[in-house]
Amino acid sequence: MVTVIMGPAGSGKSTQAELLAQNKGAIHVNTGDLLYYASQEESEEGKEIKHAMEKGEMVKEERVTLLVRQHLEEKKGEEVVMEGFPRTLSQAKALGIIPDKVFYLAISDDEATRRLLGRGRADDTKEIIAKRLLLYHEETEPILTYYRGLGVLKEIDGRRSISEIEKELLEKSR
Ligand code: AMP
Repeated sequence: MVTVIMGPAGSGKSTQAELLAQNKGAIHVNTGDLLYYASQEESEEGKEIKHAMEKGEMVKEERVTLLVRQHLEEKKGEEVVMEGFPRTLSQAKALGIIPDKVFYLAISDDEATRRLLGRGRADDTKEIIAKRLLLYHEETEPILTYYRGLGVLKEIDGRRSISEIEKELLEKSR
C-alpha cells in the first residue's frame, strides 16, 4: 500500500509523513533524501543529480522517476508513506502506479509564508518563499485534479495543530 503526502512548503508534509509512517509502522520515503544519497555516487548520474540539487533545480524527470520506481519496486508489498514525489503532473503519470491514498495538506499562501518566515532558514526569505509557492501552484497543483479524478485524493485542513492532523491522517488512512 502506497500513501502519498502532498502540500506546499510550510504545510507540514514532512512532519506528517514521518508521523504517519511511525504510527502505521510503514516505510517513510523522502524523495529529497533518496536523491541526496544518489548524488553522493561517483557516477555521471550522481554528478548530474548533485548539480541540480545544489542549484535548487528539479532533478531531470527520467532520473528521479527511475529512482523512485526502483525504490518502490524493492519495497513492493510493504506499507510505504512517500513525500516529495510526484512534483509535476508528468511525474505523476510516469510513476507507473496509482497511490492507494493521497493526502493533500491545504494551507493558504499567507499561512505558509508566515510559518516559513518563522522557521528562519537561509532560503526562507520572502522572495524565495513566493517563488516556491508560485512554482507549487503552477507545477504541482495540477496533480491534485488528476488524483481527485482517480478518486484517491483526500484534502486535509493543514491549518490545525500537528497532533490534530496526525490523528486525522491515521484515521483516514485505515
Ligand atoms: P526537498 O527535500 O523536497 O526540498 O528536495 C530537495 C531537492 O531535491 C530539490 O530542490 C530538487 O532539486 C530535488 N527534488 C526533490 N524531489 C524532486 C522531484 N520530485 N523531482 C525533481 N527533483 C526533486
